[in-house]
Amino acid sequence: MTDVLVTNGTVLTQDADRDVIDAGAVAVADDRISAVGSADRLEAETDPDRIIDADGGAVIPGLINAHTHVSDILLRGAFDADRGLYDWLFNVKQPALSVMDADEHALAARLYCVEAIRSGTTTFVENATALDWTDLEPTRRKLAVYDRLGVRNVYGAGLRDRSPDEEFERLYGVITDDGGGSVHPGPDALVVGTEDGLADAGSLIETYHEPAGRQSVWPAPATLATTTPELLRGAYRLAEEYDVMTTAHVAEAEAETRERGAISSIEYLRNVGYLGERALLGHCVQTNDRDVRLLAKTNTPVVHNFRANMRLATGFAPVVDMLGRGVTVCLGTDNTILNDTVNPLSDARAVATAHKGYHRDSGVVPAGTAFDLVTRDAAEAIGRADDLGSLEPGKQADLAVIDLDRPHLTPAPDPVHALVYGLQGGEVETVLCAGEVVMEDWELPALTDPLPELLSTAERTAADVVRRADIE
Ligand SMILES: [Zn+2]
Repeated sequence: MTDVLVTNGTVLTQDADRDVIDAGAVAVADDRISAVGSADRLEAETDPDRIIDADGGAVIPGLINAHTHVSDILLRGAFDADRGLYDWLFNVKQPALSVMDADEHALAARLYCVEAIRSGTTTFVENATALDWTDLEPTRRKLAVYDRLGVRNVYGAGLRDRSPDEEFERLYGVITDDGGGSVHPGPDALVVGTEDGLADAGSLIETYHEPAGRQSVWPAPATLATTTPELLRGAYRLAEEYDVMTTAHVAEAEAETRERGAISSIEYLRNVGYLGERALLGHCVQTNDRDVRLLAKTNTPVVHNFRANMRLATGFAPVVDMLGRGVTVCLGTDNTILNDTVNPLSDARAVATAHKGYHRDSGVVPAGTAFDLVTRDAAEAIGRADDLGSLEPGKQADLAVIDLDRPHLTPAPDPVHALVYGLQGGEVETVLCAGEVVMEDWELPALTDPLPELLSTAERTAADVVRRADIE
């Protein structure tokens, strides 16, 4: 039985051999891939209910964005660029998120999903670091949007259990004393008790995590500065107990290194029991050779948030070294306030290009590696190598069809090269997630508000959020 046959495209399987099938096809039965092969053979052997003509384009695994923040999308472009991490975090992001209501979070989720799906994304790991555990309505509303639009989401349920010490409170006072009267939720906003937080995360997993479905939930300690060793250890144990993963922001800025003092963030995490294959570490910019060896030794995956690191000038994560030592690395678009897109291939292009310049070595991060970072390596990094990240029989039917018949993609003798270095956005025409067509010919059937209306509502609402938060 074949429900859908995506045919007549160049199929980039991203299997172990990185097989590329010219004039290929992918057959889908229910939510899984049933066959991958030549279009001639699969058209003869299957009797599909529905045929999707890839029209000579590329058929790729659905892209995986392994670290992103959804609600922030309404703040895109809302501040001038010259800010450091804490200035941005405490004077832009936190004030704005603190004034958003559930309707606005749901609107952000719709805008996010439209952009993500149109970029070929089928899975994203959301870091809900500003989660207010006393009001889960924004969470419920966002998960409902993901479900309706048919995209695969990992909800990283943000946890923070450490109140700031006196010194940090003073620093917070200085940073936020901008004289502009901005709304500041305070340095200990969203802090919960360790046991309460872990218990709430456990019940959120029990309520929303679908082991065989599109929705996952992970416990997500926000940062090392805002969590205790007990919370980090507890989150890792929770991940083991529910067979999920956990994720945190680690070693992003130099300020964090100073806070840790003599011990590195990675050493600290090893000592508290938060390194291992179930912990996806975001950033890892401020890391040394020993840290990278520890990451490799403990099979701890890393998500490289390149564009955010460039915008906040935190530096280059030693990704080339990590890759060389066998650390599993993937990409995250991080905050839309800093990127400014949620398009994984756009970031793959930046990563593949910039690391060459940084290392003065045109051989580092070749196009194929960059493509792996948003497909098969990303699936491994999020613990889903068995069913995501490549087009192979038995895996989830998550795929995107990309129109290569464009002037800027002609000629394209190597489709991987074209995808990594050539896309300008807008070339993804059709997307399937779990076998369902979530976009066909650039139309999203499950999107209830017409796109122009969604965009104008988002524009208006974003301006209102910025006004209410009094962001300068
Ligand atoms: Zn982040």
